[in-house]
Amino acid sequence: MVRDHGFHPVRIKRIVQETADTRTYVLDAPFPYRAGQFLTVRACGALRSYSMSSSPDTDRELMTTVKRVPGGLVSNWMHDHLSPGDLIETTSPAGVFCLREGTTPLVALCGGSGVTPILSLVKSALATTERRVRVLAANRDADSVIFGDTLTELAKRHPGRFDIRHHLDDRQGLVTAAEVREFVAGDLGADFYLCGPAPFMALTENTLLGQGVEAGQIVAERFMVPDPAVGEPGVDAEAVPETGGGTVTVVLAGKRRTVDQHPRESLLESARRGGLMPPFSCEMGNCGTCIARLTEGEAKMRVNNALDDDEVTDGWVLTCQGEPVTAHVTVEYES
Ligand SMILES: Cc1cc2nc3c(=O)[nH]c(=O)nc-3n(C[C@H](O)[C@H](O)[C@H](O)COP(=O)(O)OP(=O)(O)OC[C@H]3O[C@@H](n4cnc5c(N)ncnc54)[C@H](O)[C@@H]3O)c2cc1C
Repeated sequence: MVRDHGFHPVRIKRIVQETADTRTYVLDAPFPYRAGQFLTVRACGALRSYSMSSSPDTDRELMTTVKRVPGGLVSNWMHDHLSPGDLIETTSPAGVFCLREGTTPLVALCGGSGVTPILSLVKSALATTERRVRVLAANRDADSVIFGDTLTELAKRHPGRFDIRHHLDDRQGLVTAAEVREFVAGDLGADFYLCGPAPFMALTENTLLGQGVEAGQIVAERFMVPDPAVGEPGVDAEAVPETGGGTVTVVLAGKRRTVDQHPRESLLESARRGGLMPPFSCEMGNCGTCIARLTEGEAKMRVNNALDDDEVTDGWVLTCQGEPVTAHVTVEYES
């Protein structure tokens, strides 16, 4: 698979106010994409990823939904400065938070703006498969529920196949492990899709694993850097072998820098140490903004939630997660 790494000017066709702090941007973007994928927007000198709330199987237009983050740079800029007709710069769609093959039910657990890629997945699963789909959507209160009407409408159109349960913190307190256990009890063989704030992700993932769900049944999309106090299930720092000396060469925008390898240093960090400023966004192996191609040697990624197997075979690497496993490694960023 060939990836398009550039930024494209994309016109905003319409803006839909979903809740007081959430808007959907309907984009005039001719990109092919898969349900659950995201675009990375370049704005205010920063890069931020936003998932599609539309489905390529049921929606003619591509839509992405953005919730204001208090104090956040790009989400607030998008809400305060963008109007229909404006151009934004985005990458083409990327990401691996996508439907897997199979016939088992799909169970999604989402919180707040995490419903965005879940809605995309639900629409595609209902339209293109016979699978049963269930969603637990957690929000602070009724006014914060994003896509409430759309989800209710889907449940009406697919009786017996699609169930949506809303959890409202102001009435029930935060989601608990007991509630997650009860919700998933009859479906422990399902594929599970998780997307929400870091503590929500940790709670749901740990509860599922505690119920005997295999890690391979769980697909998680992490929007924000996790709280270190909460930990990040699934990341195995020991899986990355030590390197003994050697070099990392980075090629970016016509510049070539070679630095010594430092143990546990990512390729992105090596590039920065070499005085280069490659693109990056989440630094968690999720968004794919930092990808580059390995043209010499090998690297192992600590976490890879963005590249599919073909892309890895083609030599693409998430530089924020890649650590060299050979003495000499060269990575080249596309300009
Ligand atoms: C794969 C992926 C998909 C995503 N999809 C969506 C989506 O569909 N919808 C959506 O709304 N979001 C989505 N996100 C999240 C989104 O990319 C942004 O992280 C989010 O909008 C916040 O960006 P921001 O620039 O507004 O906030 P930032 O400026 O990044 O700030 C984030 C938080 O950090 C705090 N902060 C910032 N600087 C400092 C500092 N110096 N010290 C202390 N605190 C600080 C801010 O107050 C704020 O609370 C996704 C993320 C990923 C990785």
